[in-house]
Amino acid sequence: MLQRLKQDFHLAMLTLVGLIVLVCVTPFAIYRYFDGSYLIAIVDGILVVSTSSAVAYAWYTKQTKGAGFFVACLFCAGFVLVATGLGPAGLFWIFPFIVFIFFLVPPLRALLLLLLVLVSMLTITGFFPELIFADRFQMISFIVTSAVTSFFSYVFAYRTLLQRRLLEQMAAVDALTGAANRRQLDHALQFAARHLPAKQPNPAALLLLDLDHFKLINDTEGHQAGDLILIELVTLLEQHTRPADQVFRFGGEEFVVLLEGVTAEEARSVADKLRQLIADNLSSTERKVTASVGVASLLVDENWEQWLSRADMALYQAKSQGRNCVVMAAGSDTPAAANEVEVTVPYSS
Ligand code: GH3
Ligand code: MG
Ligand code: MG
Repeated sequence: MLQRLKQDFHLAMLTLVGLIVLVCVTPFAIYRYFDGSYLIAIVDGILVVSTSSAVAYAWYTKQTKGAGFFVACLFCAGFVLVATGLGPAGLFWIFPFIVFIFFLVPPLRALLLLLLVLVSMLTITGFFPELIFADRFQMISFIVTSAVTSFFSYVFAYRTLLQRRLLEQMAAVDALTGAANRRQLDHALQFAARHLPAKQPNPAALLLLDLDHFKLINDTEGHQAGDLILIELVTLLEQHTRPADQVFRFGGEEFVVLLEGVTAEEARSVADKLRQLIADNLSSTERKVTASVGVASLLVDENWEQWLSRADMALYQAKSQGRNCVVMAAGSDTPAAANEVEVTVPYSS
């Protein structure tokens, strides 16, 4: 449970709002009931019950955005009703309300909802001048203070959103090449191994690709020349795979291409096409660059570590067979049965 709260920001915020509403609004609902303000008591009660239901819905269905929007709209309507019922005493609630609506929905949407609340209150005031505000001066003070609070909350929420996006990107992408990083790879392989075999007969294959004698380029032409090759390699891989295929930097000069819904034969042919493209297109100023590739199709009942380890063994074999070649991992031709004979594509440079 704590793990989900840590991983899902929206769910954590929604749960926090739910708890605050439960703790802070419930006593008011009870007080209003015994005070005889039944309309306010009912509105408060509806807010508590609906918010708790929306939080439960988000936990159960993982639809946090929809639940957040629902709670935000509910509170907009609730606030207008409370202000109408309580008059000036209810106006103070706008300030905590302004802050927490930014926890529920994206900043621009929150700002628009707040604008809608303000317009609704002013429209009601147009028809019933004394219902919400005691006098014109109070109304103007309310408009100015709530607009300023909304504006600063918006700026703060927007900056936080940008920073969170940046952090998410930094945590997912390799800074040098722009390929998805090792962390993303682990997640993608885990997901594929867990879910894809049940969905399709040829769930997925991974190509583990390692540049040949790459150290030589760094040693003779400098690290920067090596960096450029890595960037070009990722561009090449992304340009010559399907949009749904994913390219990851496994580490150093090793990359993984994850192909969903392909047979072992198709994976082998993609691997050989990429190997050939690298040999034809990638070069430093002094030498041509080649790559060795290990290919493993996901087997039934195989976990992601075993899958990756078979690809690694195939890559190791490709290196020992002389490099610039593709080797199929054991079992990859027959997804339903492990430990079959290896199939290799012979060396060709
Ligand atoms: P092999 O054919 O056996 O794979 O030989 P290799 O030289 O490619 O393999 P080795 O693992 O010995 O060397 C990998 C090199 O990759 C060593 C390291 O300096 C280089 N490398 C790793 N990450 C980077 C990087 O981000 N930039 C650059 N320029 N080089 C890197
Ligand atoms: Mg290498
Ligand atoms: Mg290596």
